[in-house]
This record gives sequence, structure tokens and C-alpha cells, in this order.
Amino acid sequence: MGKELKCPSCKKPTSWQDNPFRPFCGERCKLVDLGKWADGSYAVAAEPAPSVLPEEGQGEEYLN
Ligand SMILES: [Zn+2]
Repeated sequence: MGKELKCPSCKKPTSWQDNPFRPFCGERCKLVDLGKWADGSYAVAAEPAPSVLPEEGQGEEYLN
């Protein structure tokens, strides 16, 4: 049995050994702790960007 600890972020029990994200249970919790989710840099990438492009054909009117 290896060392066990609770993840400081989600409080789930996790193992100390062979855990590159210790003392967290995983990459997600480590990022949460670092605040990378707070500024949205990580979360935004997982979501499709809202469509802000002009509709097709709209740009051509301005060219003429
Ligand atoms: Zn966790």
C-alpha cells in the first residue's frame, strides 16, 4: 500500500506514488488550484467559440 492523501482541490482520496500531479488527484485539480480555470484560458478552449462572423454574402456588399 502506498501513501494516500486527499486531493486539496476536490477532497478525493488519491495516491502519492506515481502521481505527477501530487498533491492533487490529477491535472484538472492542479490547474484549478493554479487558477487557470478562473481566467478561462483552459475552459474556453474546450467550448466552441461563439459565432461572431458576419453572415455569408454580407461582406460582398461592401466591396461593391
Ligand atoms: Zn482532485
